[in-house]
Amino acid sequence: MKPLETNCLSTMLLDWYDNNGRVLPWRTDPSPYHVWLSEIMLQQTRVEAVRDYYKRFLDALPTIEALAKADEDLCTKLWQGLGYYSRVRNLHRAALQIMEEHGGVMPQSSRELQNLSGVGPYTAAAIASICFDERIPAIDGNLLRVFSRMTGYDQDIKSNAAKSAARDYYLQIFPQTRCGDFNQALMDLGACVCLPAGAPHCADCPWQNHCRAKADGTCQELPFTAPKAKRTIEHKTVFLIYYHGKLALRRRPDSGLLAGLYEYPNTDGNLTESELPDYLHALGFSAVRVRSLPAAKHIFSHKEWHMTGWEILCLFHPVGFCKIHI
Ligand code: SF4
Repeated sequence: MKPLETNCLSTMLLDWYDNNGRVLPWRTDPSPYHVWLSEIMLQQTRVEAVRDYYKRFLDALPTIEALAKADEDLCTKLWQGLGYYSRVRNLHRAALQIMEEHGGVMPQSSRELQNLSGVGPYTAAAIASICFDERIPAIDGNLLRVFSRMTGYDQDIKSNAAKSAARDYYLQIFPQTRCGDFNQALMDLGACVCLPAGAPHCADCPWQNHCRAKADGTCQELPFTAPKAKRTIEHKTVFLIYYHGKLALRRRPDSGLLAGLYEYPNTDGNLTESELPDYLHALGFSAVRVRSLPAAKHIFSHKEWHMTGWEILCLFHPVGFCKIHI
């Protein structure tokens, strides 16, 4: 790419951003804590869904110090409904790290930021560029899609090679200043103009005269994604165990799928009624009444749980379970 073109692309995009950038709560006061919190919330979640959660979280925990001092259960409660709860547990851990290892001050470089719990290359680059003007592209799905269309890149966009090629491309056109604005302009271009689904709004794009896919008529074929592996199916039996008007719950392990969350007791496989007594006996109690529940399915990105269930009224305290009132 010629130097003139690289300058011209960044100027065109920043001009477009000045007139079309989204007004978002975390942009009006872009402190490192605000940007960090918003970026973590925005992972896997739409902007509109995040707004209320963002405000509620900050009202309760307005500073990194307040977050570090908060009980993890309060953080999880404030996150309830956003999903992917490992994000909030990592946020809490990282706040403790900042207090203990950095004197309560957010580290300023993307390299240091990546040492915080739950902060990966994208989030570190977003915080470092927006808050500290570090010249580093924050490569996410939006930036990958725009890169693929702008350059005609037709290899698997989810691969590490694609991320590396996108990073090299953006570094060629990245401005020397307003680095955070440039990343945010790219995020907005990807979210509002160079859309992931349906036809991109090329007529509104500041780069329409420099785009390979637009020239080739391949906007809707790019980016290319290699077919996903099929989801694995896991069969489970779930138990609603009632004991003196209370319902048994247990906490999942601290790592792995749905780490640390509470769940109804369950086991692998679909247990039949005749298999229940042995299973319940192993848990330390016996049932006085058993009723089957309708089958249910839960779909994760990589697996599916196909569940059958039993409602069980029991007499003896199920050791190891935490009870809640119903
Ligand atoms: S011209 Fe169209 S396809 Fe190309 S970057 Fe702009 S919106 Fe995307």
